[in-house]
Amino acid sequence: MPLSTLPKTSLRLTEHRLLGENVSFQLSPNTSGPFESNAPDTIVVHFTAGSSLQSSVDVLTSADSGVSAHFVIGRNGDIVQLLPTNQIAWHAGVSAYAGRTDLNRYSIGIELDNAGQLKPRDDGLFESWFGKRYDKSETIEALHPNQSVMGYWHKYTDIQIAKTASLCRLLCAHYPISTLVGHEEIAPSRKVDPGPAFPIEALRKLLMLGAYEQESQSHKDNLTNEIAVRQETHERSENTVHNKKGRVASVSANTLNVRKGPSASFALVDNTVQKGEVLKILETQGEWAKVSFTKIGWVNTQYINEISERLPFEG
Ligand SMILES: [Zn+2]
Repeated sequence: MPLSTLPKTSLRLTEHRLLGENVSFQLSPNTSGPFESNAPDTIVVHFTAGSSLQSSVDVLTSADSGVSAHFVIGRNGDIVQLLPTNQIAWHAGVSAYAGRTDLNRYSIGIELDNAGQLKPRDDGLFESWFGKRYDKSETIEALHPNQSVMGYWHKYTDIQIAKTASLCRLLCAHYPISTLVGHEEIAPSRKVDPGPAFPIEALRKLLMLGAYEQESQSHKDNLTNEIAVRQETHERSENTVHNKKGRVASVSANTLNVRKGPSASFALVDNTVQKGEVLKILETQGEWAKVSFTKIGWVNTQYINEISERLPFEG
C-alpha cells in the first residue's frame, strides 16, 4: 500500500487528549507533572523494541518501569495515549540536543511498535532480542549513523508511518513544535531508535511544509509521496548514498544564511541559526551543503565546520 497521500484522518486533540477512530487512553503513572510554558516544542520518535502494542503499553503504564510516553502506535495503526500532552512523560532519558539537556521537559514522546534491530540467523531468518523471527521481507538492511557496520532493522508498517505523520501534524497545530528528532539523535551513545527504517527526514520535510500555509497543496502531496517513495527505495538508497555515516557540522558564522538551493541566488529559508549550533549534513554539492536542523536548506560550507558526529552530544 503506497502512501500516495496521507489518509483522511479523524484524529483530533481536545484538552490534551487525542480522540478519533482506533484511539484509546490508558493512563501511565510515570509523569513529572505539567510542562512549563512554551513546551512541548519537540517531538521525539522511538521504537518500542517490544513484541506487541499491548506488551509495550503494559511496560509504559507500570509504575515499576519508570518509563512512559505520550503515545504508542501499533502496527495496525491503533494509537494508545498514555499521558495528556500537557504532562511530562519519561521517554528520553539522559539526553541532549541543540544546547538543551533532559529533553523530557520539552518533548512529546511517540513510541512505535517495532522489534528494532534484528540479528541475521544461519537459516536466512532474522531474530529480535526477544526471540521472534522475521522474514527478510520484513527487514531493511542499512547502516545506522550511530553504528559502524550494516545492520538489519524491522520495517514499520505503512499505516503506522501514516498515523505517525498525522499525529505529528496535529501536534504541530496545537503546540509550538519546532523540532522532530529520533531518540538516537538526542542520546546517540545509548540509543538507535527509531533507526534507519523510519523515514524521519521525509517526515521533517512534510511537517515543515505543513507550517507554511502559502505552499500549494500539490507541493504538499509531492512531499507526502516522498515518504512513500523513501520507504520503498530505502533498502536500495541506503546502499548507494555517499552519506552513509551521519555527518554533522557546527556553524562558524555569526549569521548563517540557509537557502532553498545550492547557490546564493536561492531564496532564504532561515537566518536564525547561531554560531556553534550543530547541523546534520544531508549531502554536498561543490561548496554548498544541504543541511537539516529544525528545517532543511542549503548553506555555504565556508560557514560551517564538519565535526565528528558524537562530539557535540557527549559529556
Ligand atoms: Zn527510545
